[in-house]
Amino acid sequence: MTYTQPNLPYADEALAPVISADTIRFHYGKHEKAYIDNLNNLIKGTEFENDELEDVIRHSSGALFNNASQAWNHIFYFFSFSPDGGGEPSGELAEAIKRDFGSFEKFQKEFVDQGVKIFGSGWIWLARDEEGKLFILPKSNAGNPLTDGLTPILVFDVWEHAYYLDYQNRRADALNRLWDIVDWDIVESRY
Ligand code: MN
Repeated sequence: MTYTQPNLPYADEALAPVISADTIRFHYGKHEKAYIDNLNNLIKGTEFENDELEDVIRHSSGALFNNASQAWNHIFYFFSFSPDGGGEPSGELAEAIKRDFGSFEKFQKEFVDQGVKIFGSGWIWLARDEEGKLFILPKSNAGNPLTDGLTPILVFDVWEHAYYLDYQNRRADALNRLWDIVDWDIVESRY
């Protein structure tokens, strides 16, 4: 199958100043497009070419895994935000965060701290197991909790391309500002 890049549900400038229009255009418009183009080229003629993208991520390796996972991760990331986002989660996800991390504030701090500590490029994930227990999971490069048998709930991109235009070397600032645009309705629906 041919994988396509979905249009974002908001305008390029809608998330500014947390994520600028320039960053949206480069990060989603160019970086993410390249991963999808590479994925479509690399998957041709392989055993994976008719698979759902999640299954390609679970079972492939090397360049195909890297591009498949990056293609999926960026869609998951960019579809977690809204200009009307921010605040706190509610419902079952809020209860689980309180149970597993003590409070929403402790979860936020731990999530950003672990994201800042990733050496080089990667992603900081919130994921759940089959029982609903939550984990903060730092991953290098294209890493994804699907390969651990976990369900992704939320992710922040810590690759420099995600924040350098807007925040230069200030990764912690970039990650902390993202809380202002997280669409908790979407994130809760993944839990
Ligand atoms: Mn990225």
